[in-house]
Amino acid sequence: MTQAEQTVVVDGLALAQQIRKQLSLRVGRHVAAERRPPCLAVVLVGDDPASASYIKGKRRACQRVGMDSVERTLSGSASQADVVETVHALNTDDGVDGILVQLPLPDRIDPNAVALAVAPSKDVDGLHPESAGRLLLGMPGLVPCTPLGIMEILDHYEIPLEGASAVVIGRSAIVGKPVSLLLQQRNATVTMCHSRTRDLPGICRNADVLVAAVGVPRLVKGDWVRPGAAVIDVGVSEVDGVLVGDVDTEAVQGRARIVTPHRRGVGPMTITMLLRNTLHAYESRAACPD
Ligand code: NAP
Repeated sequence: MTQAEQTVVVDGLALAQQIRKQLSLRVGRHVAAERRPPCLAVVLVGDDPASASYIKGKRRACQRVGMDSVERTLSGSASQADVVETVHALNTDDGVDGILVQLPLPDRIDPNAVALAVAPSKDVDGLHPESAGRLLLGMPGLVPCTPLGIMEILDHYEIPLEGASAVVIGRSAIVGKPVSLLLQQRNATVTMCHSRTRDLPGICRNADVLVAAVGVPRLVKGDWVRPGAAVIDVGVSEVDGVLVGDVDTEAVQGRARIVTPHRRGVGPMTITMLLRNTLHAYESRAACPD
């Protein structure tokens, strides 16, 4: 890749809307065939305002493509057993196709224990060990939403992945690890970085594709970015009441080939992939034969 004359700022919202239109048509076909619409269940523990706002966004997104959604809200003092019991009830509810437990959970609740409670067939967050194992082995299954959204963005903007050098900063189960596997599946050569990585700027400078999923405001500086690289900024942090990403977006202008803005970038694609996973889960269930 060569130096980008003008960096394209990814319009994640427009791409998300385009995909949602397709999803809406597919849902409409099911409903026209007199099947119930797909249904997403969201479990919220406590009254964190940010989580409540994310859930509201998910409910609205479901409505807009004709899907149903249900919410199970537990008090902030709920135990792990309470959360697991709620999830088990949703597992056996035939009217529910996808289950998402809103993160973060209170510290005393082990997120892995909750992920393990979700039936793999309804695991639209892709966090159950069976889903993670299927991804690792290259078998079909439900994959975490943000990594799926990142791959859609890279494909939409025609970023070559075969043989490309990809650097992923962050190794979480929900973003860093799964996106690194998806990039490997597409024959990119992936380097995983984290808080103990030595010479992070030097490693980033070799990246044709740079994914930052860290949560450290503006960690990635302009001169960390190889000219012509595709830069995906997943991070969302609040600094003085303003949301900022992991990338110094202004500094990569004129250097990167594409960059995702921290608003209307990866976020709308994450919700769209949640809708798509819910539709896949619905279509895979015996209740929905085609
Ligand atoms: P996480 O579980 O907190 O993981 C953060 C990762 O960053 C860890 O692997 C950590 O390394 C690494 N890290 C921390 N400081 C670092 C540093 N100075 N240099 C290099 N690596 C460093 O985070 P996450 O859940 O993946 O989320 C990451 C960010 O993405 C957050 O800001 C989150 O809000 C955002 N996010 C956005 C969306 C969206 O749709 N827009 C979706 C999901 C997440 P260690 O493993 O060594 O600790």
